[in-house]
Amino acid sequence: MAVREINYNNSKSMDECRLIKVDNDISYIAPTSNPLSANVVVIQGRESEWIYDVGAHPDIPGLLETLNQDSRKVNVVLSHFHGDHIGNLSKIRYDEMYQGRLTYKHTNTGVIIESDVYFQDGDISLHLFPLPSSHAKGCVALEVNEKYCFLGDGVYAMEKGGSRLYNSGLLREQIKVLKSVKADNFMLSHKMPFGKPKDVVIMWLEEIYGRREKNEAYIKV
Ligand SMILES: [Zn+2]
Repeated sequence: MAVREINYNNSKSMDECRLIKVDNDISYIAPTSNPLSANVVVIQGRESEWIYDVGAHPDIPGLLETLNQDSRKVNVVLSHFHGDHIGNLSKIRYDEMYQGRLTYKHTNTGVIIESDVYFQDGDISLHLFPLPSSHAKGCVALEVNEKYCFLGDGVYAMEKGGSRLYNSGLLREQIKVLKSVKADNFMLSHKMPFGKPKDVVIMWLEEIYGRREKNEAYIKV
């Protein structure tokens, strides 16, 4: 143990990046805590490779290059602007970028998602939409094949002065939006396993919403 502590520059102390398959056309790089890096989802369309969040682990850009051997078009979707989700952006090759307005302030490039946007890429159908969220402004979710819905950190609380808070108005809107999603598998970044049943996530959020106090804008969790 002491030897490891002395070797503080040894890259082996970093978590390893693992690639996990969700189904035929969808895989993801698992999240790590050292360094803090969110799930990076890779979806193989016919024309393009679609990436949802780019993480912050330094091994991710190289891993993404090896996954795109045929140099297809790369479209990046960013869930929100936090560093563990967008940290690798300057090291990644991409052709198009989709994000919320606040995330755009960090990237200054690409398309701002402010309403539902749909793409069909071979057998893959993609649905991008703004997700009202307490965690961060301008969250964007990605639903794939009406089966999986990638939510980033969107359903989590905001961290404020050591407290974890939900904005009750945003939470109410979020529950409404999520109920209208067709996919049954809600994919929550940083969680193991990645996917949770839609009903379970909505029940969890409704339970939190039920704890709101009259005349209080925030719910402490
Ligand atoms: Zn976040």
